[in-house]
Formats: sequence, C-alpha cells, structure tokens
Amino acid sequence: MPPSASPVVVWFRQDLRVEDNPALVNAVERGGPVIPLFIWSPAEEGNWESGGATKWWLHHSLENLSETLKKLGSPLILREGDSLKALRKVIKETGAGAVFWNRRYEPSTIERDKNIKSSLKDDGIDVQSFNGSLLFEPWQIMNGKNEPYKVFTAFYKNATALITPPTPLDRLDKLPKPKEKIESLAVSDLKLMPKIKWYLGMTEEWTPGERGAKENLDNFIDGVVDDYIGDRNIPSVVGTSKISPYLHFGEISPRQVWYAVKAKDKTSAGRDGKNTYLKEIVWREFAYHLIYHFPHTAEKPLRPEFEKFPWRDDKALLEAWQKGMTGYPLVDAGMRELWHTGWMHNRIRMVVASFLVKDLILPWQEGAKWFWDTLVDADLASNTLGWQWSAGCGADAAPYFRVFNPILQSEKFDPKGKYIRKWVPEIAKLEDKWIHKPWEAPELLLKAAGVELGKTYPKPIVDHSFARNRALEAFKQIKSKSE
Ligand SMILES: Cc1cc2nc3c(=O)[nH]c(=O)nc-3n(C[C@H](O)[C@H](O)[C@H](O)COP(=O)(O)OP(=O)(O)OC[C@H]3O[C@@H](n4cnc5c(N)ncnc54)[C@H](O)[C@@H]3O)c2cc1C
Repeated sequence: MPPSASPVVVWFRQDLRVEDNPALVNAVERGGPVIPLFIWSPAEEGNWESGGATKWWLHHSLENLSETLKKLGSPLILREGDSLKALRKVIKETGAGAVFWNRRYEPSTIERDKNIKSSLKDDGIDVQSFNGSLLFEPWQIMNGKNEPYKVFTAFYKNATALITPPTPLDRLDKLPKPKEKIESLAVSDLKLMPKIKWYLGMTEEWTPGERGAKENLDNFIDGVVDDYIGDRNIPSVVGTSKISPYLHFGEISPRQVWYAVKAKDKTSAGRDGKNTYLKEIVWREFAYHLIYHFPHTAEKPLRPEFEKFPWRDDKALLEAWQKGMTGYPLVDAGMRELWHTGWMHNRIRMVVASFLVKDLILPWQEGAKWFWDTLVDADLASNTLGWQWSAGCGADAAPYFRVFNPILQSEKFDPKGKYIRKWVPEIAKLEDKWIHKPWEAPELLLKAAGVELGKTYPKPIVDHSFARNRALEAFKQIKSKSE
C-alpha cells in the first residue's frame, strides 16, 4: 500500500467538531481512509482530571460527534486507557501510517503529546499536529525582549497588529472510511454520566455539541452582540454569548467565532458590541499564552511572594461559600447558579472569587478546584487566569486593594434583585432595597417576607467592612515584602 493511501488516525481531544478542524481536513487531503479516534485517558491530565460537570458535557458531546461522523462516512472509534498504547493498538489493527491531531497546551498534555509523537515517529508513523483551538499560537506573540507577555493590553495590541487569524477551513462533505470494521466502545462504556442525577439543571440549560455551539453563536450574533457592552454586566439577562463550554471542548473554533462576529453588520452608533466582544475572545488567547509559558501557575502563584501568603484553613467557611450559604445574596445566587447550571456569569465569578480570597482569606486554589468540578466550561488556562487575577497573584491581576463589595455590586448590577430572586428564592419577597443586604432590613419587613435570618436564610458569615480591612492588611504585607 503506498504511504499516501494508508489509513490516517485522527486523534480527537478538545476539538470535538468536524467543521474547521485542521487535523481532520489534512487527514482527508492525505488521500487514504480516515479513522476518527477518541481515547478516554483521565489519568493523563495530571492534577486536573475532568470534573463532574465537564464529564457530563463530554458524554453528550461524544454522542453528538459520533452521529455527525457516522453521517460523514467514517464512525468515531472510542477507546480508553493509556493513549500511546491505544494508538499503537489501532495502528496495528488498521495498518494506519499516520496519526494527526490538534494541539493542546496544558502542561501535562504537552508532556504526554511530546512523548507520544517521538514514540510513534520511532515506529515509523507520520505524526502531525495542528492548531485547532487558538487564534494565535502562544509562542507567536512575544515582547521586544522575546519574553512572554504578562499584561493583557500589550499582548492584545501586539497580537492583533501582527497577526490575522487564519480563516476557517472549508466544510467537509465526506470522510473515506477504512475497509475493515474497527472495534469501538460505546459512549456509555466510558461511564462519564454521574450516578446521581444532579445534572438535570444542566440538561435544561445546554445542548452540547457542534450544532448547539452554532445555534448559540447565531442567537448571540442576531440578538445580543449589539448590546454586549452594557448587557454583559447584568447577570439577570442573557447579555453574553455563553460560548465558553463549546470553545473549551472545541465544538466551535475561535476562528469560526472571530469571523462570524466580524462579519456582523455595524448597527447604530453606541450599539456596536462586537469589538468589545472580540477583545474578550483574545483574553482566552492570553490565558493560553500564560499557561503555556508559565506552566506551574495552575497550582502556584505567578508572583512567587504570594506563596507565603497567610491563607486560612476553614472547612466550614469554604463549604458555606460552595453551597451558596454565605448570607450575601449576590454571592449565594452566583454559587447556586453554578451548581444548578454548570455556568456562572463573568461579573459574578469575579464577585464570588473576590469574596473567597479577600473576605474569607481562603486560598484561590480551593476556589479554582471547586470551579473545576462544577463548571461545564472548566478550562485550565482560563480558570487559572481568572483565579490568579482575583487573588492578585497572577499576570495583569486585580490590585490587592481592589476588594469587590458584594452589596454595592449587587445594587449596581442587579438593582431590582431579579437575579437574586431567581437563585435565592427564600428571600425573594424582600423589597428591592433590602434584597442586597437582608440583615439591615427592619424586623417587621423580614417577617412579612417570610425571612428569619439564621433559620430560613443565613446571617452574613463575615462582616464585609471588617473583612475588607483584614484583607488589605494581609495583602499589604505581601506587597511590601515584594518591594
Ligand atoms: C474566577 C474566574 C474563573 C474563571 N474560570 C473560567 C473557566 O474555567 N473557563 C472559561 O472559559 N472561562 C473562565 N473564566 C472567564 C469568564 O468568566 C468566562 O469565560 C465567561 O464568563 C464565559 O461566558 P461567555 O461565553 O458568555 O462569555 P462572553 O462574555 O460571551 O465572552 C466570550 C468568550 O471570551 C472568552 N473570555 C471572556 N472573558 C474571559 C476571561 N476573563 N478570561 C478568559 N477568557 C475569557 C471566553 O472564551 C468566552 O466564552 C473565569 C473567570 C473568573 C473571574
């Protein structure tokens, strides 16, 4: 069999789509049969094995991809366990001469992929990797000293001035399949679905898969993007694209998002949210730039002086935060939205993160772990950036003296308490004035609204003014040590 006609394995990972998929398109261009393969290998993710919410998503995403690939002509083959062994087995079974994949950028997968590449090359296999999940490769954008960026604005300016992201690839209409039938597990064999049905809220909220991604993006472009500048701060309205889990799993590529949004006609002055939105997409690129160049930051602060920060260890406080029982309605609404839907509004992510690290002085790593298990968009690069930003210990981080005030944030961004009433129903009958701070409401009004603080809804677990001063003191110490 001439090498160009031998089967090529396309190893799917976080690129669970057929459109604009460089590894798949290049495999088809090679000319031989194409074997789409997914290997469930959680042990290879280092300390960041998929959490419960992302496993739920992955289950549905794989079912969706399976259906699409079957329609295109070559079904998805599923295996589990050690990736190199699984690849070698499939190569042996099919006589494949090549393995193509789209790159991942997390520290443990980079290491694994390097080993696999060199081992397969030693076996005489043609191994090629592609960029399927970023607008810019992390090593393409460096500062004047050829060092990685630590400040977003400079990264953004340089990236957008120097590089035009490649346009999405042409759609495939057929996949040549191998002659022999190849053994495959069923998606259910991977046991990704939780045994207890805590995921019903996520089922109502999301449609994982390539089609769901496209529909989400279309709805956003048709109806939401124009008002993105203002609405993206209001948690009670759908003012953002909610595209993050689709991007994480690669059910849509950032290039597809970038060019679809760019193609949107300009609307009336003052309603042009698209440029602000595109800038947010570059924040994701910045997150990947950072995790690639500073791989230790998933666990450790980028700014080393923070390793000595006197974090507290208090399981009861942590649990109150996780369960949305802090007594601060906006914080609790966010934590419950997260638990119920697997997603949380960006502004509220900042509020709850600031509350954990600054009001409670609990380590940002605990927050990152909880998000990791509960977010459907849990993504090592973006989660690390978000938490280190909130704790003030990362790149372009919030200054130590920026402590989000959960009451003012609530009054400003949820003035009528619509978001709070949805997620914290036990205080829904309070008037707008008191819903942000029930502990200040007159006893009579609390009673009339059916609220008994400490019984039907918690009293604040910490006094914000006291906590703010305590945080400023602790963070100031770190700052002076680093000067
Ligand atoms: C503490 C904390 C933890 C976070 N953890 C994650 C995470 O695990 N996964 C994740 O995808 N995002 C994370 N974010 C970033 C951000 O909150 C989400 O990307 C955003 O809320 C997703 O909703 P959306 O798609 O509607 O966003 P939109 O406002 O519609 O933005 C579009 C896209 O731009 C990107 N983006 C926007 N803001 C950011 C940002 N600050 N950092 C990186 N990318 C951004 C995302 O890919 C997002 O989907 C975190 C933020 C914080 C403060």
